[in-house]
Amino acid sequence: MDGAHPEPREHTLIAPTTDQWRLLDIQALDTRLSQIAHRERTLPEHAELTALQQRAAALGDELVAAQTVASDTQRELTKAEADVEQVRQRAARDQARLEAGQGGHKELESLQHELATLGRRQSELEDAELEVMERLETAQAAVNRLEAERDSLQGDIDTVTSRRDDALADLADERERLGRDRVGMIAGLDAGLLALYEKIRESTGAGAAMLRARRCEGCRLELNPQDLQRIRAAEPDEVVRCEECGRILVRTGESGL
Ligand SMILES: [Zn+2]
Repeated sequence: MDGAHPEPREHTLIAPTTDQWRLLDIQALDTRLSQIAHRERTLPEHAELTALQQRAAALGDELVAAQTVASDTQRELTKAEADVEQVRQRAARDQARLEAGQGGHKELESLQHELATLGRRQSELEDAELEVMERLETAQAAVNRLEAERDSLQGDIDTVTSRRDDALADLADERERLGRDRVGMIAGLDAGLLALYEKIRESTGAGAAMLRARRCEGCRLELNPQDLQRIRAAEPDEVVRCEECGRILVRTGESGL
C-alpha cells in the first residue's frame, strides 16, 4: 500500500490555477444563495402566521357560536315581548269594559278577578322578559368582544404578512443580483472544472473549498499525511479533492503545504 503515490496524470482533471481560485468566489456566492433559500423557508414569520391563523380559525368558531347564542336569545326576547304585549292588551280591554260599567254585577266581578290574574301574569312575564334581556346583553357583549379580538388579530396577521412579504422580496432581490453576478463569474471558466464543481455541488451542497493550514475549509478536517503528500506531489493545475467531503480543494499560499 502506497497512499503517497500520485494518481496518473491522464486520469486527473487539469485546470488553470486562476480558474481554481475563482471557484472559491463562486462557492462563496453559492453558499450565500443556499443561505437565502434556507432563510426563505425558515423565516420566523412563517411560523408566526401559522400560529395566528390557527388562532383566527379558533376565534372564528367561537364567534359563530356566540352569534348563534345571541340570535337565539334575540328570538327568545321577541317571543317574551309578544307574550307581555298579549297580556297587556287583554288587560287593557278588560279595564276598558270595567270602566264602561256595562254588564251585570257578576260579569264585572269576573272582570276584576281576571284583571288581578292578568296583572300577576304580566308581572311574571315581565320578569322573564327582563331575564332574557340580561342574557341578550351578555351574549351581545361576548359577540362584540370576539369581533374586536378578531379585528385585532386580523391586524396582527396583516402586519406579519407584510413583514414576511418584505423579507421575501429583499431575499428575492438579493438572489437575482447574485444570479447576475454568477453569470459573469462563471463566464470563461474552464468547462471541465465548472462541470465537476456543479456535479459535486448538486450531490453534496458545496463544490469547492480552500485548503488552509492543511485543513479542508469545507469539512474542517485536517488532511492526513498521505493525502497531503499526494497533494504536494500534484502539479498546481491538477484538480485535487478532499478525500473526506469530496469537494475540490483549492490550494493557495495559505495551504500549509
Ligand atoms: Zn473536506
